[in-house]
Amino acid sequence: MPQDLSLPLSIRNVTKTYGSFKALDGVSLEIGSGEFVTLLGPSGSGKTTLLMVLAGFVRPESGSVCFGEAEMVLTPPHKRGVGMVFQNYALFPHMDVFRNVAYPLRLRKVGKAERQKRVMQALALVELGHLAERRIDQLSGGQRQRVALARAIVFEPRILLMDEPLSALDKKLRETMQIEIRHLHERLGMTTVYVTHDQREALTLSDRIAVIDNGRFAQIDKPERLYERPRNKFVAGFVGESSFIAVERSGGRILLDSVPLTLPEENAIPGGDSPGGRSWLVVRPEKLEVLPDGNPGEGLNLIRGRVQETVYQGESFLLYVGLKNGETLAIRQLTRRETLASLPKEGEAIVLGLHPEDSVVVPDGA
Ligand code: ADP
Ligand code: MG
Repeated sequence: MPQDLSLPLSIRNVTKTYGSFKALDGVSLEIGSGEFVTLLGPSGSGKTTLLMVLAGFVRPESGSVCFGEAEMVLTPPHKRGVGMVFQNYALFPHMDVFRNVAYPLRLRKVGKAERQKRVMQALALVELGHLAERRIDQLSGGQRQRVALARAIVFEPRILLMDEPLSALDKKLRETMQIEIRHLHERLGMTTVYVTHDQREALTLSDRIAVIDNGRFAQIDKPERLYERPRNKFVAGFVGESSFIAVERSGGRILLDSVPLTLPEENAIPGGDSPGGRSWLVVRPEKLEVLPDGNPGEGLNLIRGRVQETVYQGESFLLYVGLKNGETLAIRQLTRRETLASLPKEGEAIVLGLHPEDSVVVPDGA
């Protein structure tokens, strides 16, 4: 599919209420032509509602949805030209693969020869050409999901919407399908909005991720930025593993156990806009360095504690470290020979070093 068939998508100030409940509370998001954006959030945060607004099945009370220059809010679903993939496939079980994929073309009254050509092209893209005559109920979960994908792209939609399309699959297959969806997107280049509650899936797939919480966007950023520079405690906790240590603000500095922390420049005075709230040091388990006896950890922020428990997890050890203030910190150490030799035992005192660039302090946040 040529790149110029994809469209930019613009969501401005969209609000949707159910009774007195705000499922979407004034959300705005600009998506570039050909961009892959994921809506990531916990169950009930409003992901499906927003996708349904984009598809035209839910009409918002206010706000605007544009595909390119065209306002879509009043346009019915079948006139929007979007491809959709749902969690439960929604395939016709009694039809064979070919007829399932041909269905959107029949609806659009595409002629038989053209239909034949396009269906086989779409099936080839998802590597199912050899199963065109199989019935849906004779396919595995992964194969069904591929049929659903083929059906969503067969009419060359300018925008592709996917709502938790892999959640019914087991972990291994899900990971394979994630890579396949990425490749498909690279080849076809259509603007894609993908919904998931799985943060790793979002990190794997997306150009950008919009983290949604209670009908509002908490942060919209590229995967790496989201992980390395979360804006508040909710985002830091939802994307990746993390522990939080309460820190204090005093005279423009951030103190941990009364010692000032060295922070990345852009993070110097975090949470400046919520002076009443608390502040937290975000600690990713893989960023901490266990300092051997006698190593002063020069240039690092230091965290002192005592090992409470070690948990063997195959490729890594998880160490639970009790801090002076009563909090517990989880740190991950790879089970490499050299790490194991210096791994502190339960009950031992431990000093941890955190590089200033990895020392992110966040406000509570919504
Ligand atoms: P998500 O997809 O993130 O799990 P949804 O968008 O499905 O969340 O739902 C967001 C919130 O809106 C939930 O609290 C849900 O119960 C509510 N909701 C969704 N659809 C309806 C509806 N048709 N009527 C009433 N409440 C709804
Ligand atoms: Mg949902």
